[in-house]
Amino acid sequence: MALIVQKFGGTSMGSIERIQHVARRAVATHNAGNQVVVVVSAMAGETNRLLALAGQVTKRPHDREIDVLLATGEQVSIALLALAIEELGCDARSFLGHQVQIRTDGVHGSARIRTIDATPVEETLQRGAIVVVAGFQGVDEEGDITTLGRGGSDLSAVAMAAALKADACEIYSDVDGIYTTDPNVCERARRIDRISGEEMLELASQGAKVLQARSVEFALKYKVAIHCRSSFHDGEGSWVLPEELNVEGAIVTGVAYDRNSAKLTVVDVPDVPGTVAALFQPLADAHINVDVIVQNISFEGRTDVTFTVPRNEADQAVALANAAGAVHGWGKLLCDKQVTKISVVGAGMRSQPGVALRMFAALGKAGINIQLISTSEIKISCVIEDKYTELAVRVLHDAFELEKPPSERGV
Ligand code: ASP
Ligand code: MG
Repeated sequence: MALIVQKFGGTSMGSIERIQHVARRAVATHNAGNQVVVVVSAMAGETNRLLALAGQVTKRPHDREIDVLLATGEQVSIALLALAIEELGCDARSFLGHQVQIRTDGVHGSARIRTIDATPVEETLQRGAIVVVAGFQGVDEEGDITTLGRGGSDLSAVAMAAALKADACEIYSDVDGIYTTDPNVCERARRIDRISGEEMLELASQGAKVLQARSVEFALKYKVAIHCRSSFHDGEGSWVLPEELNVEGAIVTGVAYDRNSAKLTVVDVPDVPGTVAALFQPLADAHINVDVIVQNISFEGRTDVTFTVPRNEADQAVALANAAGAVHGWGKLLCDKQVTKISVVGAGMRSQPGVALRMFAALGKAGINIQLISTSEIKISCVIEDKYTELAVRVLHDAFELEKPPSERGV
């Protein structure tokens, strides 16, 4: 007998019919002789609908109350799914985050999981019932409801799989796996059969939406293999393998893009020790995540610093940095929200020179100007003008021949 964690996202739970479909799937897995834990998201669009309601009440929502509100979406899902499973003649029992005992820190809106006490779940499985767990939520030390960040049901599923030492963690969605890039943008995108956890983490962190980045981080840490597959058919999907390095031997595994960045430039920064720290201190205090950072060589004791922040935090970042500038003596901030960060990721580039050149040449040939560059061992990112996003994705996908299986690529 195997223990299988199955996670279904908002689209898979989008209507009563789809919930019944999920129920049939869970029951079939159960009837095949497995123990089944199903983790679900809120019904499609529900989390956004709830956020919009809060937005009508206040412009400065209190984080704690937002979590109380958002967690209701998943509460509806688990109850409906448990009912649908019972209707098929199988025992089911739903659990909220605090009932499973998914314990988190108190950072509302992006809480981190600390421990899971899966005893109630294990007991329920022993009794032969299917367990249905609310994704995206946990409970902090004060007993308050917390949420794990958007897309956080993926993390709930991986964490449950780790806590239960599950044999499989299956993440179901409306796509049948992980693609070399977003298939909505590039129709030549190819499904990847197997990908290493570290490559998947880079892709997810650089904007690929198929898995929440934190869930991949967690899977790497606790060595959980994830099977991403379609909720609409039974075919194999893509495997994310935490212990592999470069599974398919590709130099570049995928292209990701992130449209959620803004580029900030501080001009006329005094080139003396401590200034850049003084610039970033207020941003760190406000929990604003600074990403690509470039400092120019100095000219007559002054320099420029350019960096990116999440687009929805750009205005706040500008205000904070301007206020600090009044004290520390740098010039005004320029803010550009029309940018995209586009990245190529691949574990094979560790040992292969020329990947950056190929990327820059492909963008250049397409007339796309590169504004900023940053690299890690297995990733190269360029910040470009937003309007070129789709073109850049296709051009890079072609340049690295990602439409072909890795063994047939010339690069
Ligand atoms: N319902 C939450 C969201 O929309 C969590 C999830 O879907 O994974 O972000
Ligand atoms: Mg999701």
